[in-house]
Amino acid sequence: MNTDLQRFWSPSVRELVPYVPGEQPKINNLLKLNTNESPFPPSPRVREAIIAALGQDGADLRLYPDPDATALKAAIATQQGLPMEQVFLGNGSDEVLAHIFVAFFKQAQPLLYPDITYSFYPVYCQLFGVECVQVPLADDFSIDVSAYQQPCGGIIVANPNAPTSVLLSLEGIKQLLEMHPDRVVVIDEAYIDFGGQSAVSLIDQYPNLVVCQTTSKSRALAGLRIGMAFAQAHLIEALERVKNSFNSYPMDRMAIAGGIASFEDQAYFEQTCAQLIANREDLVQQMQALGFEILPSAANFIFARHPQHAAVQLAQGLREDGIIVRHFNKPRISDYLRITIGTSEQHARLIARLQQLV
Ligand code: PMP
Repeated sequence: MNTDLQRFWSPSVRELVPYVPGEQPKINNLLKLNTNESPFPPSPRVREAIIAALGQDGADLRLYPDPDATALKAAIATQQGLPMEQVFLGNGSDEVLAHIFVAFFKQAQPLLYPDITYSFYPVYCQLFGVECVQVPLADDFSIDVSAYQQPCGGIIVANPNAPTSVLLSLEGIKQLLEMHPDRVVVIDEAYIDFGGQSAVSLIDQYPNLVVCQTTSKSRALAGLRIGMAFAQAHLIEALERVKNSFNSYPMDRMAIAGGIASFEDQAYFEQTCAQLIANREDLVQQMQALGFEILPSAANFIFARHPQHAAVQLAQGLREDGIIVRHFNKPRISDYLRITIGTSEQHARLIARLQQLV
């Protein structure tokens, strides 16, 4: 676009560098291992519940949804063993994170987060005018908790971290919370259901803890947009204030109905998470046999490099065969590929192609 036409924009929008999501290409016979979606369908009860929520001839879509999504909140609170006033819902955890930045991080001192992490955090800092300091991960890509001992307006870490897949222990999280008792510490647990220990168990002990989760990965509902935050009631109240100053109805009728069905089918959830973890261990072994070095993963993806082959070329070689993985052309991680865990059939195709490439 002619930059002269940008004069119509708000000045700050001219400076924005938006988040770039993993692509959703239209390629024949595509094997999409680039956005950490689930390879399994959601619980079959989800589809039934969504159809029922439409009403006769879709008539119920005339009506606004419940602004508080009370029934979905109740189902999630029950599954988490939390009272409802400790649960907040948003349109995907990206929206929950946006409200978190506004509610807690617009402070005089900078927000701290790892130098390698979810690339939406710097985007929200810019959008909302939040100063930040990026704290380097250790050489093994683990979080160096002691490096967070510095004045700050808050902390956010993804756990397990993305795109590295590396887990921080609950002990490490407690240290962060105790280091900064007057600051909010946010643990973004988008991938926690694939082997990590959730910090939800710490909520009663720590009035400065917010845990953020999503149904997009372990519940195979990325298309429904359900994100959650868990915290003591005084923090949830701040999030509700921000939400009700932005959009009263972030959870639509289908998300509410489908989400409830998903949370009510705990057996299916546990079975698909266990299957995903087994597939991950399998893929790690097969790739190690091809010479790949893989960071210890507690997520539904792995972060892998090959000592003899450049990641950018491997990504290109996979792509020529319709297999899409994620490569980040960024300092420290440009040698790595982030590969979403799939089904065993998908892995067989991936491995066959990698065998040709290495
Ligand atoms: N946090 C992290 C660390 C993520 O990787 C993602 C997925 N891109 C999200 C949050 C957002 O997920 P969603 O908006 O689908 O809930």
